[in-house]
Amino acid sequence: SGFTVAIVGRPNVGKSTLFNRLLEQRKAIVDDVSGVTRDRQYGVAEWIGKKFNLIDTGGFVAKSDDVFEREIRKQVKIALDEANLLLFVCDTVTGITDQDEEMAHLLRRSDKPVLLVVNKVDNAERALDATEFYSLGFDETYFLSSISGSGTGELLDKVAEHI
Ligand code: GDP
Ligand code: MG
Repeated sequence: SGFTVAIVGRPNVGKSTLFNRLLEQRKAIVDDVSGVTRDRQYGVAEWIGKKFNLIDTGGFVAKSDDVFEREIRKQVKIALDEANLLLFVCDTVTGITDQDEEMAHLLRRSDKPVLLVVNKVDNAERALDATEFYSLGFDETYFLSSISGSGTGELLDKVAEHI
């Protein structure tokens, strides 16, 4: 029960790094729920006194486009079934890929609110490159670095507004 936020996106964009980073803010508790499938991880995060469940989807690396196709559909299904809010993670080092476009298309058709998270914005030069992600057409776009934690406070403020 409670408000649930799911992290989705293609492999290697930094979903798990973001997951760990968001749980580490304030007093976060990683839930060790036994019996849950290994392709997702659950945690409970807290920000400005608001608690929410966090799901890291996609614990496996797709080996082919076919497998990728199945994986993103699975992620979207988990997200749509369980989440109140979706964090769609992309990566400015790689830039926009076909897989990002495909995921964006699926997410835009859902009725869940989506925050676009452009990750790996580690410095000012990357912040300039990252503006290309506005073209994916999400109203709310956040630029951050999961490794350094820079920008994650603004994202968490927005998540808390949705709760
Ligand atoms: P996932 O497959 O989406 O869960 O991605 P991971 O969290 O496993 O990260 C994939 C790679 O991206 C790892 O080598 C991370 O260290 C790296 N990474 C994640 N976040 C950042 C970031 O903010 N900046 C940079 N430079 N690398 C990152
Ligand atoms: Mg991962």
